Amino acid sequence: MINKEAYHQLCELCDEYDAQLVAVSKTKPIEAIMELYEMGHRDFGENRVQELQDKHPALPDDIRWHAIGHLQKNKVKYIAPYVHMIHAVDSQSLLAKINAEAEKNGRKINVLLQVKIAQEDSKYGLSEEEATLVLDKVNDDQYPHIEVCGLMGMATFSSDMDLVRGEFRSLRDMRERLSQMHGMELRELSMGMSGDYQIALEECSSMIRVGSLLFGNR
Ligand SMILES: *Cc1c(COP(=O)(O)O)cnc(C)c1O
Repeated sequence: MINKEAYHQLCELCDEYDAQLVAVSKTKPIEAIMELYEMGHRDFGENRVQELQDKHPALPDDIRWHAIGHLQKNKVKYIAPYVHMIHAVDSQSLLAKINAEAEKNGRKINVLLQVKIAQEDSKYGLSEEEATLVLDKVNDDQYPHIEVCGLMGMATFSSDMDLVRGEFRSLRDMRERLSQMHGMELRELSMGMSGDYQIALEECSSMIRVGSLLFGNR
């Protein structure tokens, strides 16, 4: 079920670029995830809470679950006990909610701020100004139960690779500005999917989120 050749190529590329591969298993069955798990893979991404809730108890405990899609505040409580990283924090109020649920669970949750980089109209993501305001509060120690590890972005869905590259570059530049301004490392840049991971890696992605190339079309 898994495209093993693609998996090995992606692993080699990630090694070369010092990046991490998040295998996006949304809509795919437990067996497909287990197949990759048995090849040694541990980082999996899902975009729906209900699916995470179904899959998490049915799979080994040492899987690191990445919540990669838009997340509703009222659903944070379900994944807060076990989620490894939340990639798509797109509002101050969502961050506050994650902080509160992390506190209830006596843990710290890793998050990425999703910023808008695509030219196309995308519903979700912070502007640079909004990200600045969020990071001000983080620096003010208002969210002691979250760890802001970096930024996440989605490029325009387009075959114009110059456009896509420019958008990835804008995320990388924004990371430079924000980390300087706030004295934060913001180590992770989560960008790149099946159609554009190569460009993302060339533009300093540290986490590529790849689904269909590994698991087949949805
Ligand atoms: C589905 C999804 C991916 C993976 O997309 P593919 O094109 O299948 O690799 C990456 N990121 C997010 C946020 C997604 O929802």
